[in-house]
Amino acid sequence: MFHQSRIDRSLAGDAPWLFLSPHLDDAVLSCGALMEAQAQGREVIVATLFTEASPGPHTRAAKSFMNQCAVKDAGHLFAARQAEDKAVLEDMGIQAIHMGAVDALFRRRAPRLGSSAWDRLLPEITHRYPTYRFDIAIGRIARGDRRLIGQLRTDVAALMGLTGAELLFCPVGVGKHVDHLITREAGVAHPENLVLYSDFPYDLEAEPDASRLEQMGYVPWNWDQGLAAKPPRIRQYGTQADALFPTGDIPVKAETYFVPAS
Ligand SMILES: [Zn+2]
Repeated sequence: MFHQSRIDRSLAGDAPWLFLSPHLDDAVLSCGALMEAQAQGREVIVATLFTEASPGPHTRAAKSFMNQCAVKDAGHLFAARQAEDKAVLEDMGIQAIHMGAVDALFRRRAPRLGSSAWDRLLPEITHRYPTYRFDIAIGRIARGDRRLIGQLRTDVAALMGLTGAELLFCPVGVGKHVDHLITREAGVAHPENLVLYSDFPYDLEAEPDASRLEQMGYVPWNWDQGLAAKPPRIRQYGTQADALFPTGDIPVKAETYFVPAS
């Protein structure tokens, strides 16, 4: 008998869907076409987990990121990112929730160290992930983030209850950005509802963790409708689009999801 996947079954009805987005753009980047198509006929909610910066002094990695975004002040940059995310999702008919965790680039080891002499002298010492290449993007969650993960799990469980979501979409973690891995961890406690999505544009250059997916028994499921409407949506993230796509060209790629094989 033909096997219907978890997404196919849910597509036939009109139950709410909840998408977890690590940052203020990831859900639209990775799932924008499916979300926009579905928002016509069901409630679609995007909860973004890491929506805040913290005051300086900043690490070199954080400063370099802000330079790419052409906004020098972290508070202003994140206020602008929150506003553009609300605007994009509202245009798509989607509800936006900002969960308020601090982005890995700005996360300190302990909040009180913010005013210490070390913070002024060498901010890399007081931040949980001192560099991008060797800390944020190597796929290892810092032990100090365990408490944060526990809090996010509690928040996601509450959101599942509030929204009555039938499906919970989480990043599979292509690219190994620590905030993407934490977002996946925040959602995996809902195996009956879980769908994983491939992280775009990271997935142009890297592959998902095949052995982990096999271990979970998850297989790919593709969505290729309405892709032409996606680049304009991505460009609406004005503070991010140029940094993400320096040539100005946003590749059109079918969206890949992962669902239980049986
Ligand atoms: Zn991200």
